[in-house]
Amino acid sequence: MRVLLVEDDDRVADALVPALTRRGFTVDRQATGRGTLDRLTGVDVVLLDLGLPDVDGVTLCRNIRAASDVAIIVVSARGEIDDRILGLHAGADDYLVKPYDVGELVARVHAVRRRRGDPLDPRGGEVIEVADVRVDLARHEVTVAGEVVTLARKEFQVFALIAAAGGAVCTRERILHEVWGRTWPGANRTLDVHVATLRTKLGRPSLVETVRGVGYRLNGG
Ligand code: CA
Repeated sequence: MRVLLVEDDDRVADALVPALTRRGFTVDRQATGRGTLDRLTGVDVVLLDLGLPDVDGVTLCRNIRAASDVAIIVVSARGEIDDRILGLHAGADDYLVKPYDVGELVARVHAVRRRRGDPLDPRGGEVIEVADVRVDLARHEVTVAGEVVTLARKEFQVFALIAAAGGAVCTRERILHEVWGRTWPGANRTLDVHVATLRTKLGRPSLVETVRGVGYRLNGG
């Protein structure tokens, strides 16, 4: 999957580019707002920092949307709800407030692509691979060392979220929100049961690692 990172801050870009590359993305970086519209060809997702020195980020977002059907995730240091609404109305698909976790960003990228129903790219883009674990998001299929593992729908969704974080922590909150759409008394217990079943079915008790009090992460090593 090809990502265009529009970000003027070198420190942010220097951290993000290798982190996304490690997770299988091809990343182009654009340090100014100007010129962005010329670089959209072949791009799947634009990560757009709203705070750019040369152009207004919201205007740029609107212009990208006018020029292309590319998925846009707006990233902003400004957390005001007004900005959020503004960003989404300007044509963005999703929104992240700095500082954010790379795992969360990766999961959002996959979620945006899924929601848009984007077709598989010829390289089989909607596949997450960590060590010998392979998660095919389009086919809802998980293989471990080449063997297909049959998962229930919610088990698959939980595992896909954890896998999409690429080794970063996926919080319980996020999983409950994305998979069940809500939380309730006893939700954590339900999630624990799903994860326990997952571990058994995957045949790798240490693959989904518990981060106590926070969530889960994939341990591909
Ligand atoms: Ca900035």
